[in-house]
Formats: sequence, structure tokens, C-alpha cells
Amino acid sequence: MPNTLFIDGEWVSAQEGGTRDITCPANGDFVATVDEATEADTIRAIEAARRAFDSEVWSAKPTSERADLLLKAGAAIRERRDEFARAESLDTGKRFVESQQDMDDIAGCFEYFGKIAAADAGRIVDADSQDVFSRISHEPVGVCALITPWNFPLLQASWKIAPCLAAGNSFVLKPAELTPHTAILTMALLEELGLPKGVGNLVLGSGASAGGPLSTHPDVDMVSFTGGLATGKKIAANAAQTVKKVALELGGKNPNVVFADADFDAAVDNALNAAFVDSGQVCSAGARLIVEESIAERFTDALAQRAGSIRLGGPFDEAAESGPLISKEHRDKVTAYVQSGVEEGARVRCGGQWGQGELESGYYYEPTVIDQVKRGMSVVTEEGFGPVVTVETFTTEDEAVATANDTIYGLAGAVWTQDAGKAQRVANRLRHGTVWINDYHPYLPQAEWGGFKQSGIGRELGPTGLAEYQEAKHIYQNLRPGVTGYFGAH
Ligand code: NAD
Repeated sequence: MPNTLFIDGEWVSAQEGGTRDITCPANGDFVATVDEATEADTIRAIEAARRAFDSEVWSAKPTSERADLLLKAGAAIRERRDEFARAESLDTGKRFVESQQDMDDIAGCFEYFGKIAAADAGRIVDADSQDVFSRISHEPVGVCALITPWNFPLLQASWKIAPCLAAGNSFVLKPAELTPHTAILTMALLEELGLPKGVGNLVLGSGASAGGPLSTHPDVDMVSFTGGLATGKKIAANAAQTVKKVALELGGKNPNVVFADADFDAAVDNALNAAFVDSGQVCSAGARLIVEESIAERFTDALAQRAGSIRLGGPFDEAAESGPLISKEHRDKVTAYVQSGVEEGARVRCGGQWGQGELESGYYYEPTVIDQVKRGMSVVTEEGFGPVVTVETFTTEDEAVATANDTIYGLAGAVWTQDAGKAQRVANRLRHGTVWINDYHPYLPQAEWGGFKQSGIGRELGPTGLAEYQEAKHIYQNLRPGVTGYFGAH
């Protein structure tokens, strides 16, 4: 497998010869050297995508052929699950079993968009006249820049690639610089399956350099970005200069609301999953636990006791329950974030330390529970993106809702109660794009995913996830044309 860029149907080296060494965050081991693109490489990729789009080589194909390629991609990823999962785990340090589950989800995503692409025939409009035939056709947006983060590298990319291709667009994908390998595998797979040259292009490298032209170049029609809030704002501002379509999936500060009448053991167990799966490096992580005061002490004790015994380890350590953070820089950020909470008066109930002993060769951070926090503290308002959960309390349903909505973000949240009416009431009032009732984290490719407020713009997955990559064109035909007499003849 060439660890290079893929531009206009060719595996090519970065023009200036730049490279980057990828290491595994679980132990610092060398994984591979990959090419590092500069702006010039990315511009070549954009131009290739433009030529491919304008040639209609992909958009004019029968929808069933586009759908077929996606279905085959899904099947191939299922078949090669372990190879893809291994590559993902080496780049991210994520447990192999979690990467395997991600590959199942990724295959499901390709299959879902393969199925709905073929069913998308536009719409007949009732023009309220016998003399008019009016219809909406769904057409591709054009050249799409797809920019993705390192936490679920191929999952986030597949949420973009699959609908983008289903709708007939061409694209330039730039995965996060630390985690390029499953993107490389996927581009090679699409090439093998016969994706026409120039329709899918891959550039590897840093956001500022390789990513720069993706939001500024006039030949890009749409930018779909998943990543941090600050980067998202910059990309949206750049894209506004040429009025590109923009889709943003940004961060979250997600409330997990537990009422006193919840199933206690299930709520504690799922609060652990919510906060500590993938070491909390999940945009929808339940990093803000909001518990009814009457059970808060008992709940926090149980949570801290279980969090303190989570076993950390590398991707292939079968006893490990969670892995490392992505990099030294990120661990430093999480460390400073917890420290700021302590300085503001919060109490660390467990964790708050780097992994010790044999974990010292990787970037481990212990699962951390923090209480005695107040609204407004940085640990309560800012996304930490690490294995850190804060505990707040409430006494009334209104207070629970107000606390859960007191954030600039609005990605996801959960409510735990055995009162079905209360569950629905609270779910309706939470200003977050996904709300789980008595669960945390599951999502479906057939259901929309995305954020309210500063968690983003637009939706991925579901029918809306396909519509993001389409323009709706209204075609209006007068079946009985004639002189209108609108302007008088002089
Ligand atoms: P990031 O914003 O640092 O980087 C994301 C991607 O953008 C990377 O590929 C990066 O190289 C690229 N990039 C950076 N600057 C760029 C620029 N100027 N132009 C073009 N590309 C640029 O984010 P990250 O640290 O990789 O990921 C973590 C963030 O992603 C968290 O905030 C998390 O909440 C968010 N996230 C959101 C979702 C969601 O579905 N809402 C999913 C996963 C992650």
C-alpha cells in the first residue's frame, strides 16, 4: 500500500517531498512514514476533482451503478474488517475490538447510502395547474472538501464519503494528520472497485498547509468538516468568501441527566460508557453528569469506585478496557484542563493522573471523576475531550433541563428515569441533536446526527445526510405556452 497522496487516479508523492512519521499513541512505536502534502498538492487534487466533476463521469452514471459501488465498498470492508481495524488501532491506539466495531458501523454506513441513493428520484410538485409540470431534481453539489478528525478516523470519513458519492459529487478527502491509514486503505479500495479517476482524491498532512485550500479555493463547492469548534469557525469564515456550502460537525459538552427514579445500576454503568469509551475522545461523550441531588452522593461514590478500576492498555491487550489519548500534546491539554478545575475549587474523586508503570510509554490518562463543580467553571463549560466527567446536581425537572441546556454546544445528551412521561418531556426540552432515553451512545446510520447551537451546521446520516450533498433544482415546464400579453405591444 503506497503511503502517498491519491490524486487524479494516481498514487503520487507530495511535490515538495515532505513526509511525516506516524507513531502509535499506546507505546510510541513507529507505524509508518507517510507523505505530507503542501498547499500545491491540495490545489492539484481540487483541480482533478473539478475536472472529474465537470466531465460528468460520475454524476451522469445511473444511480444504481453509484449505489452498487457503495454496497460493494461496504461488503469489502466487512470482509477485510481486521486489516482495516488493525490499521485504525495502530494510528489511534484504540482497542482492536473497538476498531472492529467501528468497521462494522462503517460498512453499515456505505450500505445505507448505497440503498437510499437508488431510491432517491426527486419529487413531483403539485403546481396547482393542469398546464404546468413541475418537479424537483436532486443534483450533486459539485466538488466537496471532506475534512475529518482523528478520534474515529474512518467512521467520520465514511459518513462523508458515502453520501458524497451516492449523490454524484467528486471529493478531496483530508484525514487528520495523525491517523491517515484507514483513509489510504479506503481510497485504494474505491480505486479497486472502479471509482473513475479524479472523483475521489486524498491529501495527507496538516490542517494549515494541506487543509488550507480546501476552504478557500474557488473550485470547491462544499466543505464538510468534522473537528473542533475553533477550526470549524475558521473554515466557515474562509468558505464564506466564495459562498461555499458548509456542513460542520463540531464539539459537544454533553449532559447525562440522571433522575432519582432511574435504574441505579444501569445509570451508573452507562455513565461510565458515556464518559470513558475511547478515553472520552468522543464528540458526544457524556462528560457532564447531572444527577438528582437525593442520589448524587451515592451515585458519585459508585461511579468513582468503578472508574478507578477501569483497566487501561494498548490495542491488543485483551484485558484492557480503555486506551490512551491520541498524543502527548493532547494529554498535556487534558492535564491542564483538570488542573484548571482543581484551581477553581473542584474536587477530583478519582484519576487525575497519567498512566503509571508500563503505561508510561504511551499517552494514558486515568479515568477521572470530578465533583464540587459550579456552572461557569471551565471544566463544566469547555470540551475536555479526555476521560473526565464532572458531576452537577439538581432538585427539580426544570432545573435539570436548564442545567443541561446551559452550554454553547448542543450535540447530544441523555435522560435516565423510569417515568416515561418525564423522559419524553425532558427529551423534548433538551437543545441537543441526539437525546438518548435510558441509554447512551448508540446511533443509527438511518437517523440524522448533528448539533444544535455551536455543535454544528447541518446533519450527517439519515436522509438529511444525503440531502447535504445535493442541490434541489426546480424544473418548471409550461405545458401550454402562449403569448402572455404582460407588456402591451407598441
Ligand atoms: P481539529 O479541528 O484540530 O482538526 C480536524 C481536522 O481539521 C483535521 O484533519 C485537521 O488537520 C483539519 N484542520 C485543522 N485546521 C484546518 C484548516 N485551517 N483548514 C482545513 N483543515 C484544517 O479537531 P481534532 O482535534 O482532530 O478533533 C477533535 C474535535 O473534533 C473535537 O472537538 C470533537 O468534538 C470534534 N468531533 C466532532 C464530531 C461530531 O460528530 N460532531 C465527531 C468527531 C469529532
